[in-house]
Amino acid sequence: MARYKDAVCRLCRREGMKLFLKGTKCFTDKCPIEKRNFAPGQHGKDRKAKIVGYGLQLREKQKTKRIYFTQEGQFRNYFEKAARTKGVTGELLLQQLERRLDNIVYRMGFGISRRQARQLVRHGHVAVDGRKVNIPSYQVSVGEEIAIRENSRKLPILEMAKDFASHQNQPAWLDIDRDNYKGRVSALPKRDEIQLPVNEQLIVELYSK
Ligand code: SF4
Repeated sequence: MARYKDAVCRLCRREGMKLFLKGTKCFTDKCPIEKRNFAPGQHGKDRKAKIVGYGLQLREKQKTKRIYFTQEGQFRNYFEKAARTKGVTGELLLQQLERRLDNIVYRMGFGISRRQARQLVRHGHVAVDGRKVNIPSYQVSVGEEIAIRENSRKLPILEMAKDFASHQNQPAWLDIDRDNYKGRVSALPKRDEIQLPVNEQLIVELYSK
């Protein structure tokens, strides 16, 4: 699958806001948004036109895709599944994104960013109900236990992540036992429990055209 290999801070600058893609750096004055909050590229500073209509919908979709590091095809699949399911499409879309294994590892505080959490999953450090799962997009179900595998618990990045997570809010829909490197999904997240600077209704409108 294609992967984004450019500097991720450019993605925040493109969206004109912090997407918190790099963990601790995002909370310091080294964050490029603090110094250069304009679009990247030669003419980035000159592009000041107000975005409306389709442009706004498109930016909302791009922003969401970038926060979760998903590709267009996979994102579209999430939307189509949400649209086929009974309920509020935008909320169901976000729920699927939140249920990704890499996101849950991040939300549980085992990585300082979703990218780092994805790396942990890919490299085989994560188990679901005792079985190694190395697919970042794996959809975690209610009741499943996510754990860092026994032999991986000495990784230095886990200590850093633990410290970082101790300053963050713990999601109400996850039971987290950080000292024992594990946690469980206790319920699906409701919209107001998903802290995300996104208007998902605009994405629904974009894909419903
Ligand atoms: Fe975005 Fe974080 Fe980079 Fe700032 S440091 S631009 S919030 S990824």
